[in-house]
Amino acid sequence: MKSIDQANFNGKKVLIRVDYNVPLNEQFEVTDTTRIERTKETVNAITEEGGIAILMSHLGRPKGEVNDKYSLRHIVKTASAILGKEVHFLGDVLDAETPNKIAALKPGDIGLLENLRFHAEEEKGDLEFARAIAKLGDCYVNDAFGTAHREHASTATIVQCFPGKSYAGYLLYNEAANLDHVLQNPVTPFTAIIGGSKVSSKLNILNNLLDKVDNLIIGGGMAYTFLNALGVKIGNSLFEEDMVPVAKEIVKKAHLRGINLYLPIDNICADKYAEDANTYTTTQNHIPDGWEGMDIGPKTIRMFADIIKNSRTILWNGPLGVFEMKKFSNGTHAIALTVATTTISGAYSLIGGGDSIAAITKFDLGDYISYISTGGGAMLEYLEGKALPGIKALNEDE
Ligand code: AMP
Repeated sequence: MKSIDQANFNGKKVLIRVDYNVPLNEQFEVTDTTRIERTKETVNAITEEGGIAILMSHLGRPKGEVNDKYSLRHIVKTASAILGKEVHFLGDVLDAETPNKIAALKPGDIGLLENLRFHAEEEKGDLEFARAIAKLGDCYVNDAFGTAHREHASTATIVQCFPGKSYAGYLLYNEAANLDHVLQNPVTPFTAIIGGSKVSSKLNILNNLLDKVDNLIIGGGMAYTFLNALGVKIGNSLFEEDMVPVAKEIVKKAHLRGINLYLPIDNICADKYAEDANTYTTTQNHIPDGWEGMDIGPKTIRMFADIIKNSRTILWNGPLGVFEMKKFSNGTHAIALTVATTTISGAYSLIGGGDSIAAITKFDLGDYISYISTGGGAMLEYLEGKALPGIKALNEDE
């Protein structure tokens, strides 16, 4: 796929698909501006070159109907402040007035179209709708990694309307490059740390990673289904009974492929799922009835840390315990510190997924991680080995 560095946007109307699906409070103020901030580099590069940036996005789930609650008008002020110049609201893609508003923009200006999902055709990936959007610009840039796993009109279909004139913005390009770096050319030893609550939601990632990693560390709530499958008593810990055969299969596959699979060897347990619970650290792995595993124990931390310290590529998705509660955040904190220090001494680390990012931010370690992927669902699908429609369309463009 071509990056925007390979184009000259001077005097061009550039349709830029961004992911401004940001959270709003009841006063319609943006409460987390990360997604807007992450497009700044791309938008600035295009406008500084004399391009006219026409931003387009979805917001929320208006389900194909106009709904003021989901109007992108609400984010104009915030976007203007972050992008450093006035963002002109252009109205709906299909409004008769919209082309005139775009014609009034000068090189270097920024415009923003109304929520594309006010039209059901957007999510259907409709070609006619993509053509209607395409009429408003001279070329297309996709910088919406968070939506790249959707085959929508503005994320995938539209590339057909701009053959040879479709580009990846820096955010999309860098996300794909960093994920490829890990999946295709990892410097070994390559260690994946997979945590979080459910085996079922991480199953495809686990399977895909089994072909690639040297070490697979499994922690968090999902570890207990694995431990149960191996005959360990897990008390009231998180458990997915129907995943037991799958867990056994993963353990077997790892064994057959010579991959080191690491599970917790001790646990911090609670007598209820609450901050004020009584706690108990197991000396061995078994968890008594009435107690549930909430975090990895000290022996496990040491074992996981040893593996991580000797790794050259580290991929981390999902917390190792209920890190939102202080009492049960030590495991995730210790592993975050280990990943950070190992990165400082030369390893490459990639962290992704909402909760893992929340954990890294909470411990203020973001600066010591090689790359933080914010893609959510898109990142998970990429790690599962799926071709994302938004990226596939750009890759297939001439
Ligand atoms: P996920 O969205 O699957 O990555 O899961 C993240 C959630 O897993 C976080 O909210 C954690 O609190 C939760 N979690 C991690 N470890 C445990 C555990 N031992 N028991 C219950 N929940 C856990």
